[in-house]
Amino acid sequence: MIRHGRYTKGAIVYKETQHFIAKLYHSMNPPQSIANVLLPWFDQHGRKDLPWQHDRTPYRVWVSEIMLQQTQVGTVIPFYQRFMAALPRIEDLATAPEDSVLHLWTGLGYYARARNLHRCAKTVCDQLGGVFPSDLAALQALPGIGRSTAGAIISLAMNRRAPILDGNVKRVLARYHAVEGWPGHRVVSDVLWDFAEHHTPLARVADYTQAIMDLGATCCTRSRPACDTCPLSAGCVAASSGRQSEFPGRKPPKDTPTRERWMAVITRNPSEVLLQKRPTSGIWGGLWAPPEFADESAARNWIAKSLGIPARDCFAGTPFQHTFTHFKLEAYPVRVHCAANQTLSTTVQFDVEDLQWFSLHPAPAVGLPAPIVRLLARLGTEEKERSD
Ligand code: SF4
Repeated sequence: MIRHGRYTKGAIVYKETQHFIAKLYHSMNPPQSIANVLLPWFDQHGRKDLPWQHDRTPYRVWVSEIMLQQTQVGTVIPFYQRFMAALPRIEDLATAPEDSVLHLWTGLGYYARARNLHRCAKTVCDQLGGVFPSDLAALQALPGIGRSTAGAIISLAMNRRAPILDGNVKRVLARYHAVEGWPGHRVVSDVLWDFAEHHTPLARVADYTQAIMDLGATCCTRSRPACDTCPLSAGCVAASSGRQSEFPGRKPPKDTPTRERWMAVITRNPSEVLLQKRPTSGIWGGLWAPPEFADESAARNWIAKSLGIPARDCFAGTPFQHTFTHFKLEAYPVRVHCAANQTLSTTVQFDVEDLQWFSLHPAPAVGLPAPIVRLLARLGTEEKERSD
């Protein structure tokens, strides 16, 4: 039997055949909906006090769903509360400056989510009168809204029947039905969507959706599923065969390339740092970070030309690493510290409007990538020590 690991073309064909047979079997012998046992479990054990469960509007559900992608509930809660306090209505988000939105997102990572959130709010306000559409296709046509997020908005905020398939739901269904393979492969996700569709009930859809998400988050957890207390244990194929850890199948491993970059990390009395706003597209799009270069001499030359400071006055800062989905960044700061009246003499390579001095105390209220937040905290401490 093929498990996880690298997929060859033959393995995918084999898997497609397996899934086709499983689908055929299920179409002739449809399993009972798990809603019948999940809903009573939810009434007793489900989470009913999460911030986005109060005043469940499409806007509030949508923001929570976007934040919860790739991020745990416990991490999301304070960000969500801060976001909602600052931007309580979709109109507030649509009219907010991009820097403010990215600042509210700083620390959550995956900043494309925040930029899409902003674009989507503008589209809903400018073209749809500030009201989210109530059908799946129209919701999915909006920026950053995929099939599962659209399903969550419809089921949780409108209490209308629509399946969802987020990470927790994928895990529950993959184990319950022993669906082989990595859900990132279309053939596997199609099977999981079919099961999600099948199990979603006609009544109490919002509760069912919350119930299956809660089960995945609190009971059918990634590493230690609590099968003894799980309401689905009687029908769960993975649990009955002791193969819980095999589902869902893991992503096939691939080599992550390393990209080296040099950053001009320039501080100025009293406790200021020069940052550049990145172009909207690309890595860290729309966020502020030190100017970046492909090699050290390019960074030193730019400092010399832009600040009139000789390259020999630069010194090496502490390198840091950051892992993106597709590559690993190794960043080497090229440090220089300037007098209080230092200005930029020329702007070789970057627009002047994209470069700005920010105070390190308090930290800048703009969107910052997580490693740059840590870098600025270190610089802030150094600058404090320098002035003491
Ligand atoms: S029985 Fe275990 S593996 Fe199956 S759904 Fe419940 S917690 Fe997950």
